[in-house]
Amino acid sequence: MKKLLTVSMLLLVSAGLVFANGQGEESGPKRTFVTIGTGGVTGVYYPTGGAISKMVNQKYDEYGIKATVESTGGSVFNVNAIMSGDLEFGVVQSDRQYQAYNGTADWEDVGPQEKLRAVFAIHPESVTLLAADDSGIETFEDIKGKIINIGNPGSGQRGNAIDIMEAYGIDYETDIKAQSLKASESAKMLQDGRIDAYFYTVGHPNGSFKEATSGSRKTHFVPITEVDELLAQYPYYAKSFIPVAEYPGASNTGNVDTFGVKATFCTSADVPDDVVYAITKEIFENLDEFKTLHPAFAVLTKENMLEGLSAPLHDGAMKYFQEVGLK
Ligand code: GLU
Repeated sequence: MKKLLTVSMLLLVSAGLVFANGQGEESGPKRTFVTIGTGGVTGVYYPTGGAISKMVNQKYDEYGIKATVESTGGSVFNVNAIMSGDLEFGVVQSDRQYQAYNGTADWEDVGPQEKLRAVFAIHPESVTLLAADDSGIETFEDIKGKIINIGNPGSGQRGNAIDIMEAYGIDYETDIKAQSLKASESAKMLQDGRIDAYFYTVGHPNGSFKEATSGSRKTHFVPITEVDELLAQYPYYAKSFIPVAEYPGASNTGNVDTFGVKATFCTSADVPDDVVYAITKEIFENLDEFKTLHPAFAVLTKENMLEGLSAPLHDGAMKYFQEVGLK
């Protein structure tokens, strides 16, 4: 009985909150609840969403915004959930932002996602291929015939893996044994000997590669060098490298060349300007604090956080950037 009472009291309280939100109560600040879509828990999107929500929530009295974070299948899932209104915000690869807004790749059939809006860019992400030392994969071409996790369909990395295989003349449907697992499962699958290698487009360092490189099955990052044509073809790709010092368990002796994109923070044109304004302002005014929340943020500057965006800036973000002279 006591438990029942507590549950119904809780329900009443949450109903009250929703009501207060809907009505914009007279007393106290208006309350707004927003959800940020991220990625797998061992990636960088999940702690990124955590960092943004932590900073926004600690100013609840000022902004009246309560942000929560959701672990998701990644960029493609996040764009689609933002567009359907299931999420207010999401972390999205810059290439996926471009494709969704322009109606290409995964959005070819459904068309341009015209309400998609950019808020700011975050950390760089590298298309990363990690292979087991005993898999026989030394060069990229060696993936032929091997069991490779290219990522779940909602992920960002799946498209990058397919693009780069195509650049090497490798057909992912026939030339490799492609798996479509979530990134959060990859490290364990590799250690268990169930896959030979996996692709992950992600910031460094991250939990997935820490886990995968520190097990008893020895592993190494595979260089991806045939990227010139891809870079010429797509505006969102750039050269990058894997900082192997972050992964002392990996067999590599030097940094590994590859290419990459940027993580970006996205929303919908339907999300109110004051909410987007407050979040943008909070992160930019306290960038030094934000940068302490993940090592992948070390390279961030206010200027480079406006680079790599292809959907229009949300009006709320634009308002802040104009106020401070960044736009
Ligand atoms: N880039 C990945 C994706 O879009 C997610 C990486 C991460 O979670 O840090 O699916």
